[in-house]
Amino acid sequence: MAAPDIEKKESAPSRDFIRTIIDEDNRTGKWGGRVHTRFPPEPNGYLHIGHAKSICLNFGIAKEFGGKCNLRFDDTNPSKEEVEYVDSIKEDVRWLGFSWDDRLFYASDYFEKLYQFAEHLITTGKAYVDDLSAEDIRAYRGTLTEPGKESPYRNRTPEENLDLFRRMRAGEFPDGARVLRAKIDMASPNIVLRDPTLYRIKHVHHHRTGEAWRIYPMYDYTHCISDALEGVTHSLCSLEFENNRPLYDWVLDNIPAPCHPQQIEFARLNLGYTVLSKRKLIQLVAEGHVSGWDDPRLPTLCGVRRRGYTPEALRDFCDRIGISKADNLVDMALLEHCLREDLNRRAKRVMAVLRPVKLVIENYPENSLEHIDFPYHPEDPAMGARPVPFTRELFVERDDFCEEAPKKWYRLAPGAEVRLRHAYYVTCTGFDKDPETGEITAIHCVHDPATKGGWSSDGRKVRGTLHWVSAAHALPAEVRLYDRLFTKECPAEGPQDFKTFLNPNSLEIVPTAMIEPSLASAKPGDVFQFERLGYFRMDRDSTPSKPVFNRSVALKDSWAKIAKK
Ligand code: ATP
Ligand code: MG
Repeated sequence: MAAPDIEKKESAPSRDFIRTIIDEDNRTGKWGGRVHTRFPPEPNGYLHIGHAKSICLNFGIAKEFGGKCNLRFDDTNPSKEEVEYVDSIKEDVRWLGFSWDDRLFYASDYFEKLYQFAEHLITTGKAYVDDLSAEDIRAYRGTLTEPGKESPYRNRTPEENLDLFRRMRAGEFPDGARVLRAKIDMASPNIVLRDPTLYRIKHVHHHRTGEAWRIYPMYDYTHCISDALEGVTHSLCSLEFENNRPLYDWVLDNIPAPCHPQQIEFARLNLGYTVLSKRKLIQLVAEGHVSGWDDPRLPTLCGVRRRGYTPEALRDFCDRIGISKADNLVDMALLEHCLREDLNRRAKRVMAVLRPVKLVIENYPENSLEHIDFPYHPEDPAMGARPVPFTRELFVERDDFCEEAPKKWYRLAPGAEVRLRHAYYVTCTGFDKDPETGEITAIHCVHDPATKGGWSSDGRKVRGTLHWVSAAHALPAEVRLYDRLFTKECPAEGPQDFKTFLNPNSLEIVPTAMIEPSLASAKPGDVFQFERLGYFRMDRDSTPSKPVFNRSVALKDSWAKIAKK
């Protein structure tokens, strides 16, 4: 009976152009049926949702094709804080639900082999040591319309090059004195091929190799060789590396590489109203525009995790945006839609009032206390229920009352009848107002005891259903509401600094919330639906006397239309 259902769930994943290439490789036996990918982050910042796309692609493909995916840190650019970044990246990949098993690598593991391949290029006349300054190298490189000029050092003999290169390694020369360059073609229409730099001198400490190296290999040189050494079959990278592909191939064609992986480029993820670039995110963190790397407004994986995003929602999102060759901008609404779908399934429903005002039920006995059984989930009885105390004095949402109600107002207003969720129908009989401030200080009503449970047996209908908490039992809490981080869809585009477009209202702290008493046992990391208000995740800033909740997402899309899958 269950068979058709299972079949549906296990239907083949969508065939994007990369999976189509792999299908074809498997058909022709190009790699002997092997599929081996890698995710190669540079440990210079925290991962963001763009990286999630790459992680889901690389690890996802390995999973689907019964292959392997390595985690490799591209640590060719020594900098100080790499250890913190390495740890966070590992945590984020695991959190997304992927495993590199025992295949955790560092490009720095290959420094000696990379060096030996460089000597090979030198002895075969394919690389030379150049004494031009960085500035001259740039000037000699030419432009898109003009060919480059050959360096006067280009025709050094292999012997001289080898001697100089060995002395570079030994630390004889200061930073910037010399570089090792590939000898390719200064007139190539592809500027990347105009004798690119392979090694530069840097007298700096490296987080893994310490002081062992005084020269460091460039990314383009390191990346392809690392792929080949690891037996990678398909090296998936973002579109900006398209021009570098001929160099990737040139290096592997000119050294005795163990294999020659295929580089395939795909379009990066761009998300509206945020920035997906470590360099930009670092600025926001370092300059204090946000509270840290895991500020729930940031698109970092630790940020969205703290906000309440689940790995399931992110994987679903990556699935839906798919893989293509064309640059595109994805609407944040799609990301939020994926989260709502996931949390709708798993989040317990509870009641919290963000901006409370007292509702006094005049005809409800003063010392009476009822416990009403509230199911945690309308469609999932297995989630159970909890008793919610109901008393004469409740808190309801200030916004749910209107002194002079407009047409189609279905909530509280003088004379209006509404339903208190799972409790009773109440009719508003009056309100108290602070004569000075004009603020409503209490709302009065009467309940209909015949509507217990929130249903009327005489068929009388009310349109509004309000959430509430018992004033004597509710616990105070802080709630943090978030809006988009930027006011411009593409803040990084255009001549102005992207930070000019930071949204000053991206965080609203509501210190006054009152939550139902069952939440006393909630722990940081727990996610709930606060009825009518959205999904909220308990934050690590919580204290026993003041729980803090981050709104992960509102219940309805307040952004644009959701892009269809
Ligand atoms: P950033 O601009 O954030 O510094 P990066 O490309 O320099 O990004 P890396 O650490 O080198 O960051 O990225 C590791 C992998 O993740 C690379 O293969 C890169 O192509 C991929 N990646 C980075 N950003 C995105 C994105 N927005 N969409 C898809 N893939 C991405
Ligand atoms: Mg990079």
